[in-house]
Amino acid sequence: MTTTLAGPSTTSLGPEADIAVVHGRRVPTGLFIGGEWRTAETTFAVLDPATGDEIAQLSDGGPADAIAALDAAADAQSRWRHVAPRDRADLFTRAHGLLLSRAAEFADVMTAESGKPLAESRAEFALSAEFFLWYTEQIAHLHGTWAPASHGGYRVITTHQPVGPALLITPWNFPMLMIARKAGAALAAGCPVIVKSAKETPLTCALFVETLREAGFPSGVVNLVHTTDSGPVSAALMADERLRKVSFTGSTGVGATLLEQAAPGIINTSMELGGDGPFIVLDDADVELAAQQAVVSKFRNAGQACVAANRIIVHTDVIGQFTERFVELTKELVVGNGFHAGVDVGPIISERQRDTVVGLVETLRAAGAELLVGGSAHDGAGYFFEPTVFRVHDRPQELCSRELFAPIATVYEVASTAEAIAFANDTKYGLAAYVFTKDLSRAVAVSERLDFGMVGVNRGIMADPAAAFGGVKASGLGREGGHDAIHDYLEPKYLALTVNEEEGLS
Ligand code: NAD
Repeated sequence: MTTTLAGPSTTSLGPEADIAVVHGRRVPTGLFIGGEWRTAETTFAVLDPATGDEIAQLSDGGPADAIAALDAAADAQSRWRHVAPRDRADLFTRAHGLLLSRAAEFADVMTAESGKPLAESRAEFALSAEFFLWYTEQIAHLHGTWAPASHGGYRVITTHQPVGPALLITPWNFPMLMIARKAGAALAAGCPVIVKSAKETPLTCALFVETLREAGFPSGVVNLVHTTDSGPVSAALMADERLRKVSFTGSTGVGATLLEQAAPGIINTSMELGGDGPFIVLDDADVELAAQQAVVSKFRNAGQACVAANRIIVHTDVIGQFTERFVELTKELVVGNGFHAGVDVGPIISERQRDTVVGLVETLRAAGAELLVGGSAHDGAGYFFEPTVFRVHDRPQELCSRELFAPIATVYEVASTAEAIAFANDTKYGLAAYVFTKDLSRAVAVSERLDFGMVGVNRGIMADPAAAFGGVKASGLGREGGHDAIHDYLEPKYLALTVNEEEGLS
């Protein structure tokens, strides 16, 4: 039996939604629970990191709001899972069209709350919409299997069913991409969701959820809770046996806490965690290409990316040439307000995080690293920091397995390919690695020896909906994107169907 969907709501930002106007764009400020925007008793401020100014006050939810969202999701589950694939895909198509029609709004809101340059916001939006489209296309093409039992007598039929209500927790560094690829997969699979956005960048999530509401997603299927008190909110949800899935992107420490909380109820988990990406430049690399890609890989999003080049590992034969060019290109980067034309690098997300970056420079200096360019925060308003390059001569213990998450590049020298591989793997993380060489056979051999979930060959960026994004070791569990990612939100279900092989055939 299938459920029929009502037509889309035509009202944009209905009268029940309280609105903030951010860079001329209207964004709902409440919590979205059971199909309506609600106002919490307290609010919190969202700041523009380029100025430090408040740009909106949003409802600050608590555990009771989270449980109300789970009530709504659990109630919606039985209907949502039985919506016919074509109907669900049509709804997604409508939502995808609406998202595209709002591209400029999303880019402005993203830049306002995260500080990233407008060009990066536009690119992130375009990629997010592609992820959403990817899952849209999968909905009507999920198939099971059919096989005879090993000794005959019955048939083995395998189908899939949605895991159940899912909690989606996202970080601030890619406010749109993180929620679009999680919600895209979960909703496509038939799971209602509770979105817990990052308090630094909740506005993009609010706009995303409002767009899904406008597209006609049924009440209770999509819920959104903002909070400044993530621990108690997620703990309350994780302790409730109706929650069947948690998908988290963020730091490895918080991921480990969520895994502990998932254990008693055996909650299905997907974890996209921290990284310590080695960026290897071998002796036969195209050095100009490697230097250009290192700049993109390192300084995109002001270095606040889990897949950023964290240790740039260069062969002795080319380290002089590489470093000179890399420093030259770094000096050309323009730091400033993401709304201003020509800006390459925006601010750090918050004052606290900017202070962490300042501390990191002190740690590197104390460890004997050689500063080649940058190294200082900007005076005045906003949390700007210069793109910085260090040459690190030793391999200081305090920097091993440390994710910089900052516009700070560290360049290390190695004498051989074997040493590059060993150093690259000497980390608890295993998310993204990069290798630069003109020899394809060597590229394959090195890639196969890197203990990472993803390897970029002669490129410093590799996000794509068709690719399985994710890491090994302390970098996570599960994948987002690619053919199989939707199965992170589906359980296989086996039906045994008795067949009397001879009966009725005579
Ligand atoms: P974070 O772990 O502090 O926060 C991420 C999210 O978790 C936020 O929404 C936050 O409010 C929430 N949170 C914090 N404590 C929580 C708790 N006790 N229970 C539940 N939720 C909690 O990370 P961050 O500083 O926002 O993001 C940076 C980290 O995220 C880096 O380590 C980065 O590598 C990682 N990251 C990984 C990927 C990936 O795909 N692997 C992508 C982006 C960022």
